[in-house]
Amino acid sequence: MAEVTLDALRKEFDRGTIVAVDDIDLEIEDGEFVTVVGPSGCGKTTTLRMVAGLEEPTSGTISFDDEDVTDIHAKNRPVAMVFQNYALYPHKTVRENMAFGLKMSTEMTTEERHDRVREMAEMMGIAELLDDKPDELSGGQKQRVALGRAIAREPEVFLFDEPLSNLDAKLRTEMRAEIQKLQKEFGVTAMYVTHDQEEAMTMGDRLAILNDGKLQQVGAPTEVYENPINRFVAGFIGSPSMNFIDVDVDTSGSSTTLTNESAGFEIELSEEYLRGHTLHDSSYTLGIRPENVTVIENPDGSELVRTSVEVVEPIGSDNYVHLTLGEDFLARSRPEIKPEPDQTVGITFDDSDLHLFDPETGEDVF
Ligand code: ATP
Repeated sequence: MAEVTLDALRKEFDRGTIVAVDDIDLEIEDGEFVTVVGPSGCGKTTTLRMVAGLEEPTSGTISFDDEDVTDIHAKNRPVAMVFQNYALYPHKTVRENMAFGLKMSTEMTTEERHDRVREMAEMMGIAELLDDKPDELSGGQKQRVALGRAIAREPEVFLFDEPLSNLDAKLRTEMRAEIQKLQKEFGVTAMYVTHDQEEAMTMGDRLAILNDGKLQQVGAPTEVYENPINRFVAGFIGSPSMNFIDVDVDTSGSSTTLTNESAGFEIELSEEYLRGHTLHDSSYTLGIRPENVTVIENPDGSELVRTSVEVVEPIGSDNYVHLTLGEDFLARSRPEIKPEPDQTVGITFDDSDLHLFDPETGEDVF
């Protein structure tokens, strides 16, 4: 299969007034599954379309292994793309749709094509649909046809553009697992675009997070979740989102204090808590994930800060406890923790879960 390398890849539209992709460097290893994730308009689709050859880069290069494919026409690239809207030919049967990509291959006889289509259809569980037309199929079946058609072409690189967005939640979960299984089975290098961070977390060996055309961070899902490089990544990855609160740091006393007076937030961090980090007397943005905040229903002095409860939202397995700290400060607690609205509670968190960001640059400094 192929290693995919994007080198300073850039795409401008409208004579440079829109920078859709801003000098991206990314290496996808041979057989690796990389999920490209970011908010709407961050440049995910444009990046994928450039790899497919459907969009011409303004500058930069795309290589498959050591071959520069930047100027190679889409139909001559060893890629297969699966789209959100399935892109099936409505007047062709499932069999004809699946065979279509194979017809371009001159080396195959009609019989070989026929066998390949049947084999792929059986693997995708759609063999009984081969004579149907796309409008007779459900969304999930259509996407199986599109996937089967893509695999049948034996691409070296698989490109997915939000392929599951039109499916319901249950089917989406099923198909996620199926796509990953297929990709590993065939050992195809894959690039998968989604705006859904939850989907990104469950798929892919690594995530590439984009914002505003710029690559923010690349890493394994847990690595990115635990060590976000900046405030954008910290807020984008993880659901519900990380809590942020602006704090002023004062290092003049025996311990370092972090305060936000208007939010009634004041915590003292010991040397041990600071883990050797040196903070300056300045403003920072503190970040802590809801699942890392422990609520103490009857504050006993062991808490880092006291606050009051706004509302408790049960979600079955856990409770979301909304607290009156800053704008909306959320703790994800065990279901037996059920304080009343307006009740005074304490919160605490582990030092290893605390993040501090530079309020100007957004960079993680802790
Ligand atoms: P979404 O999740 O909404 O599909 P995306 O992250 O895939 O978004 P792109 O579709 O790549 O983002 O678009 C990136 C930026 O480039 C956006 O500002 C978009 O409006 C702009 N853009 C994309 N295609 C064109 C085009 N053909 N002409 C002008 N601007 C474009």
